[in-house]
Amino acid sequence: MDTKVVKFGGSSLADAAQFRKAADIVLAEPERRFVVASAPGKRFSADIKVTDMLYSCYELAAKGEDFSAAFAAIEERFNSIIADLGLSLSLEKEFSDIKNAFAHRAGRDYAASRGEYLNSIILADFLGYNFVDPAGYIRFDESGSFDLAATLSLLSPKLAQLQNAVIPGFYGSMPNDTIKTFSRGGSDITGSIVASAVNAVIYENWTDVSGFMICDPRIVENPKPIRTITYRELRELAYMGAGVLHEDAIFPVRKAGIPINIRNTNQPEDRGTFIVSETAETSPYIITGIAGKKGFSVIQIEKDMMNAEVGFGRNVLRALEKNNMCFEHMPSGIDTMSVIVSSEALIGKEKSVLDEIVSRCHPDKLEIENNLALIAVVGRGMKKTRGTAGRLFSALAHARVNVKMIDQGSSELNIIIAVEEEDFETATKAIYDMFVLTAEK
Ligand code: ADP
Ligand code: ASP
Ligand code: MG
Repeated sequence: MDTKVVKFGGSSLADAAQFRKAADIVLAEPERRFVVASAPGKRFSADIKVTDMLYSCYELAAKGEDFSAAFAAIEERFNSIIADLGLSLSLEKEFSDIKNAFAHRAGRDYAASRGEYLNSIILADFLGYNFVDPAGYIRFDESGSFDLAATLSLLSPKLAQLQNAVIPGFYGSMPNDTIKTFSRGGSDITGSIVASAVNAVIYENWTDVSGFMICDPRIVENPKPIRTITYRELRELAYMGAGVLHEDAIFPVRKAGIPINIRNTNQPEDRGTFIVSETAETSPYIITGIAGKKGFSVIQIEKDMMNAEVGFGRNVLRALEKNNMCFEHMPSGIDTMSVIVSSEALIGKEKSVLDEIVSRCHPDKLEIENNLALIAVVGRGMKKTRGTAGRLFSALAHARVNVKMIDQGSSELNIIIAVEEEDFETATKAIYDMFVLTAEK
């Protein structure tokens, strides 16, 4: 029998009503044997995610302050799900163990991981599925990087013995067996790992939108959904902030060639978005998607004839390396070079980076500009179409957006532009209008 792996995000498991929808989805197809669960998310927009409740509760515990009220509020979230589902399960023992561990400062990652741990115990009970704690199977190495090879060698044989299982998302363990989490949104990565471990035919990622939209629905109202997207396109969009799927969730399934299907728990009949390695399906528009992020700075370097100076670029990058910084983009002209970096990484290092560039490169002019946003326009169709950059610029000029930088990847899969942060939303809407709305007229 083909095996499907399904992952439910926080909003899909936020309360008993959502649990019922998720269970209906799982039980509708016997192939849906392995389920990865997030911690309860928001039930309404002002609500607090259980993961955030755990972080703040643990902060009190770590400071030696009284955390019992904060902990009771977390217990209440789980107990109300259990009661509303009519289960006879009790988590009292788990609560008391966790509380004890908090008091003994078991660590921030341990604390955060308990949301998925407890929620998965409830879901396993409700579905009548086995429960598998990823602590023993999803492994990180000494440096804290996820270790795919070690994980697959432990997880594949374990899951091969089971007809079904619920597996908490978001965490695994270090070589010394302490709990370690992925970064926020990391249950998507667990889903991808489990799909790879059982060689699933598909990884279904159930969330609160009917797939990946061409752009962020919080910026453009009711954007069109993307039917099919390649891993490479998606990775560009996810990296640039399209929040639907964690950017690192692509690797494990991509390696195994398993497609991902993003689906809506609240509208299970919708087809959602398919993420695949290759597709012959042409996208209905020249572009596949738009995504962007604020919080970038540009270091501008001018020097006559820099183009002719051997090793100039390397010296600039050495200055960053010396300060332990990565760069995002590095567009250059004949006498100018701009290096785009994350502002967060630059804070506190401005002087030392500039001094280092001056001493290595002796520029004529050197300055930093902050408050930039980057927008990626991504699409496998752009390669085949002429004039995409021209249309992009005219859309932005029309919207009176000043473009600070443009960089086209050599694969012609994406064009990245930098604009001022205050122009971010306007620019995104203008690009959407030009390539999607106008294209339909
Ligand atoms: P989950 O809790 O299920 O993991 P997330 O909140 O992590 O869900 O991701 C889904 C959210 O991603 C949507 O509710 C939406 O607000 C946001 N989002 C950002 N960009 C996009 C996009 N291009 N298409 C769809 N949703 C997007
Ligand atoms: N619960 C974790 C978070 O809020 C992980 C996840 O939902 O994917 O980030
Ligand atoms: Mg998520």
